[in-house]
Amino acid sequence: MTDHTHADTLRTPIVAVLGHVDHGKTSLLDTIRGSAVSEGEAGAITQHIGATDIPLDTISGMAGELIDPSDFDLPGLLFIDTPGHHSFSTLRARGGALADIAVLVVDVNDGFQPQTEEAIDILRRTGTPFVVAANKVDTTPGWNPQDGEPIQKSMDAQSERAKSMLDENLYEIIGQLSDAGFSADLYWRVQDFQKNIGVVPLSALTGEGVPDLLTVLMGLSQRFMKEEMAIDVTGPGEGTVLEVKDERGFGATVDTVVYDGVIRNGDTVVVGGQNEPIVTEIRALLRPRPLAEIRTEKEFEKVGEIGAAAGVKIAAPDLDEAMAGAPVRVVRDRTVDQVVEEVKAELAEIEVDTSENGVVVKADTLGSLEAMANALREAEVPILRAEVGDIAPRDIAVAETANQDEHKAILGFNVDLLKNAESDLENADVKLFKNEVIYQLVEDYERYVEEKQRAQQ
Ligand code: GDP
Repeated sequence: MTDHTHADTLRTPIVAVLGHVDHGKTSLLDTIRGSAVSEGEAGAITQHIGATDIPLDTISGMAGELIDPSDFDLPGLLFIDTPGHHSFSTLRARGGALADIAVLVVDVNDGFQPQTEEAIDILRRTGTPFVVAANKVDTTPGWNPQDGEPIQKSMDAQSERAKSMLDENLYEIIGQLSDAGFSADLYWRVQDFQKNIGVVPLSALTGEGVPDLLTVLMGLSQRFMKEEMAIDVTGPGEGTVLEVKDERGFGATVDTVVYDGVIRNGDTVVVGGQNEPIVTEIRALLRPRPLAEIRTEKEFEKVGEIGAAAGVKIAAPDLDEAMAGAPVRVVRDRTVDQVVEEVKAELAEIEVDTSENGVVVKADTLGSLEAMANALREAEVPILRAEVGDIAPRDIAVAETANQDEHKAILGFNVDLLKNAESDLENADVKLFKNEVIYQLVEDYERYVEEKQRAQQ
C-alpha cells in the first residue's frame, strides 16, 4: 500500500435485486440489460458471467435529462444477475454481503408479501442501503404515462387529480415501509437519502421509470458509499466465485465478481476449494463479447486485467473443485502460504458440522450450505457430508453407506442431479430431495422420516 495515486477512485457499486416471487425481479434485470444494450453500449456490458456491468455513459444515455454524468465519480453500476435474498445473503465479501446496495422490488398491486418482509429484515441486519422499485405501474388504473417523459413529470401532472389508484397503492407501500421501521417517500420528494428510502414507481415491462431507478441508485451510491468504494486500484485483486462452469476449450472456469483491487492475466490466485484452497495461475481472463458478435465469433474475449468492481470469467488449471461463494485472492506482495491461510480463515467462518451418521447435503453456494446446515441442526437432523455442487455419483455412493435407513438420503438445495448420476440413483437405495426453499426441503425430509417410522411400527 505505497502508491495511493488512485486511492480516491470510486469503484463500481455492486447492486443486488431482492423481492417477493413474481414481483418482477428477473424482468427488471432483463429490462436494465436490454435497454443498456439498445443504448449501443453492448461492448461494455457483461453477459453470461453472472453480473451485468452498466457503465455511467450508458446510464446517462438512458436517463437523458434526469442525469448529468459530470456529477458522478462512479464508473457505473454492476448488477448481480441472480436475484433474490438467497443469493444476496449467501454471496459474501470478507464476511459481509457482496452487494453494496440493493433494489427491493415490490409489485405495486400486491404490496408487501412474506419474501418482501424477509428481504427487508436482511437489508436491515446487514445495514445495506436500498431503494424500492414499485413495479408494474403499467397495470394500475392511475397510470397515465406521457410518451417519452420521465415518470416524475407525469406523476406531478397527476397529483392535481383526485387520488388515483396508483397513488393509493404507492402510499400503501410507503406505509408498509414505515411499519417496518423505515421512513420512505416517493423518490423525487426525498431530500436526504440517508434519512429516507426512495420509492421509484416503474414498469419493468415497459421500461418506464427504469432510468429514474438507475439515477437514484447512482445518487445513493455516490453519497453513501464514498468510504467503502474508494479503492486502491493497484492492489491485489479480491473476489467471490459466483459459479463454477465448464467452458469449451478452457475446462473448469470460475465466474467471479472482483470487488477489490485488480486481477491480471498470469497472476497466481488462491481459490476456495472443496477440500483445500486451490493455488493456480490464471491462463485467461474472459469477458463476453457484445451480443451482436456472439453468433459469428467466439463467445468470449480475453482481457489483460480487470479492476474492481467487475464480473469476469477466470480460466486456470485445477478449478474443478472450486466452490461457488468461495473467495478468490490474487497472490501479490505476499507469499502463497499467507494467502492460503487467509482463504482458509475466511472459509472457516462458514461452519458446517458433520458427524459419522447422517444425510448428504448439497447446495449451490457455500453460504447456502451453511444456511442448510443451520436449518438441519435446528431440526436435529445430523449431516454425514456437506458439499457445494451438483449431485454426483459419489454423493449417492456416500449416502448409501449411512447406517440408518432414514439417513440414506440426499438433500439438494438449488442444485441438479448430474446426468451421469441418474442411473446410480435409480439403482441405489437412496432418497433424493430437491428444493429451492430451505425450510420446504427440511420439511419434506422430516415428513419422509415420519412416514418411514410410522410404516415400521
Ligand atoms: P420474479 O419472480 O420476481 O423474478 O418475477 P418475474 O420477473 O419473473 O415476473 C413475474 C411476472 O410478472 C412475469 O409474468 C412478468 O412478465 C410480469 N411482470 C414483471 N414486471 C412487470 C411489469 O412491470 N408490468 C407487468 N404488467 N407485468 C410485469
